[in-house]
Amino acid sequence: MKESPQSRNLEQILRSSKMAAGGFMGSDSRSVAEIIDADAFEVSKSGYTTGQLSVRMQEITDAAKRGLGTRVEVDAQHQAIVEEARGSIACPWPHLRRFVKRVTTVKHLDSGQIICWTDLNIHLIAEHGFFEGRGSAFRVEPGKLAKVIF
Ligand SMILES: [Zn+2]
Repeated sequence: MKESPQSRNLEQILRSSKMAAGGFMGSDSRSVAEIIDADAFEVSKSGYTTGQLSVRMQEITDAAKRGLGTRVEVDAQHQAIVEEARGSIACPWPHLRRFVKRVTTVKHLDSGQIICWTDLNIHLIAEHGFFEGRGSAFRVEPGKLAKVIF
């Protein structure tokens, strides 16, 4: 795939440490397109779509928000908690979308597995199919995500 100047610019923004601690790419040397393609394959193996994953993530975040920082029973299999920081963070793609700095942590009670995400992660997955690069602070592993949230 030939890279346009615009996608090179996006790549630079995603690797920038000013946007998020360590950037969105972490230590990943793959291009954004390669990361998105590889994760799309992982998502398809999970049997879900990025749409289904992001809708479920939002549902868990919305349930956890009602706990105002205390643990919430989302359903019989899931406990979740949100933490909010001051300020907001912009989507690195070229459109004006900003998100509250909120982290949702969810635990699957049977397996004991835990995964966390930010409000921005939900948007990146829903709108851009982007789970962030390996080694980034908020990389979400698609296969693990599907196992933990359903
Ligand atoms: Zn966006």
